[in-house]
Amino acid sequence: MFYLIILLVYAAVDAMACLGLSQQFGVAGVTNFGFIIFQAAGAYVAAVLALPPDTANGGFQTYVGGFGLPFPLPWIGAAAAGGLLALPFTFLVGRRLRGDFAAVGLLVTAVLLNVLVTDYRPLFNGDAGVALVPAPLRQGMFVTTSNAYQVGYAVGGLALAAVIWWLVHRITESPYGRTLRAMRDNDKVADSLGKNLVALRTGALVTGGAIAGLSGAVLVSFIGVWSPAAWSYAETIVLFTAVIIGGMGNHAGAVLGAVLVPVGFEEITRFISNSNPSLPPNLLPSLQWVAIGVLIAVFLWVRPQGILPERKRVIPRRPWPPWRALPAAAAGRGAGPAAGPAAALAVAGTAAAAAPGGSGGPAAGREPGRPAGPAAGPAAGGFPRPARRHPRPEPVRDILRTEGVSKEFGGVHAVAGVSLSVRRGTLTGLIGPNGAGKSTLLSLLAGTERASSGRIFYQGAEITHLPAYRRARLGLVRTFQLASEFKRLTVLENLLSAVPGHRGDSFLGALAGRWYWRADEAAAIERARGLLARFGLERHANDYAGELSGGQRRLVEIMRALMSEPDMLLLDEPMAGVHPELARRIGEGLRELCREGMTILMVEHELAIMDEFCDPVIVMAEGAVLAEGTMAQLRGRAEVVEAYLVG
Ligand code: ADP
Ligand code: MG
Repeated sequence: MFYLIILLVYAAVDAMACLGLSQQFGVAGVTNFGFIIFQAAGAYVAAVLALPPDTANGGFQTYVGGFGLPFPLPWIGAAAAGGLLALPFTFLVGRRLRGDFAAVGLLVTAVLLNVLVTDYRPLFNGDAGVALVPAPLRQGMFVTTSNAYQVGYAVGGLALAAVIWWLVHRITESPYGRTLRAMRDNDKVADSLGKNLVALRTGALVTGGAIAGLSGAVLVSFIGVWSPAAWSYAETIVLFTAVIIGGMGNHAGAVLGAVLVPVGFEEITRFISNSNPSLPPNLLPSLQWVAIGVLIAVFLWVRPQGILPERKRVIPRRPWPPWRALPAAAAGRGAGPAAGPAAALAVAGTAAAAAPGGSGGPAAGREPGRPAGPAAGPAAGGFPRPARRHPRPEPVRDILRTEGVSKEFGGVHAVAGVSLSVRRGTLTGLIGPNGAGKSTLLSLLAGTERASSGRIFYQGAEITHLPAYRRARLGLVRTFQLASEFKRLTVLENLLSAVPGHRGDSFLGALAGRWYWRADEAAAIERARGLLARFGLERHANDYAGELSGGQRRLVEIMRALMSEPDMLLLDEPMAGVHPELARRIGEGLRELCREGMTILMVEHELAIMDEFCDPVIVMAEGAVLAEGTMAQLRGRAEVVEAYLVG
């Protein structure tokens, strides 16, 4: 009986820890190889908050603090400690550092902290650890017998684990959770769509850290002791094994893994050592490590998604029953693409009438009219025009301008002193031989790469030092030459992930719950469905983007960029690998967007496309701008013909 209770408490503790780790690793893609130190911090903090000063009990142990605080203060303190401890690590997992570097950095930190606590006795009594940690409510009036107390503790622990489940579920299944998964799938692309990676990763680290800290508190309050041996860095690997086996990014999987791996191994070890008392004492723990290694290898080989894989988020045609649908969403549906070209034309006309000059005014994007306006009404022959989000600044003729922009990669001058300007409302082409520096220039303009020298101006203001996500939020949005869809998000989710200013796309918005962001989500779904219908991809709305054909994935990227309501698009070979007929349709759509006020700078290889759609065209070679003009003019210039058009 007592042993079963211990197992239940361990299950609750491990389930909480695995949920925290799954949230960090499985959902947000933050590989925290130092996870155990957050649990340890929570355990120590809970211990010294609950313990009396270390002069009590004859001073046989030494530790800082000793506040004798009543329950639940030590547990709250433990969660806070786990969350706070995460803050200094955010510089490790920030925007620029590669994920595996950060993982190793956290692992090293975990080892160092363990050595520190072991060798520096005044902190937490060194190697021996702290003991006699008071159990919560031990003198409480509802606790009668020890047995009842233990059962109550197990039930309480499990209830707390359930609350943690609810919490991570609420975060993961919100637009904010979708953003976390997008970052996990491709952080560079998320950055280019306006996602603040540092803030997102900080959120994931702090949430997971707080959960880990709380789990440490539940554990230490039960077993009453906590020493460095309990939290060697290898314990993190046990938890990772649990999450990988159970299923990454699936909370049920995390809990299943917690029961199977840490709890299950403990149980098996005990069973074998009880039945064979003659075994060498170190054999079983060693075998346990071998078994964990084999398990990881087998699962990564045979079933990398785990026992319970991440669930696909299917968004039904009508996410909410009609009687609960919002008026704006309903209007959008009525005027949607299904209503036929005539209706679409009519809608486009109304939108234009309501918004003279097609500018729509700064507020239009925020009003309930949003879905019924540009979002739902596909303009004839073009894309649904994105809603206007940014208060239009004093119009400058050249929406984008660079002065001597350069980029070096270890001696290679990928871009060498490019000065150019892009006129508002044009579909400007950018051509040049392979390796000319076109993609690098686009990266510099979008902020994906920092310029080595030179200055960049957008809408008249300097943006040279703005990070990519801030540029995207100003309406300067890029696509990538290589496939860059969020693979484990559905097509519809890919589109939704780019929506700016979504009320549910923040930590607090996610916690507030569905009622808080439902209207934004409905409007965004409506807009995304309009785009999908326009491109004939409606059938694939709920397919994983990673499963589409190459051409379809390019479409998803373009649609996703449009969902972010850009003022200027930087497209890197958007028609590469696309069926010629579809490529033409894309070209026509892009030109239509430009007629309505969008500016596009497009890298393209096909001269026929340049001929047909782009004016003016900029020619690059060896990192520098060679010429600019209409295609007809360029064909007449010897140096251009030599550099590109012939060779
Ligand atoms: P384009 O898109 O015109 O084909 P790129 O901008 O991709 O050309 O590349 C320009 C030059 O910069 C090439 O010589 C390429 O090898 C180099 N380059 C691009 N990106 C990197 C990088 N991340 N590291 C090192 N060299 C790079
Ligand atoms: Mg390129």
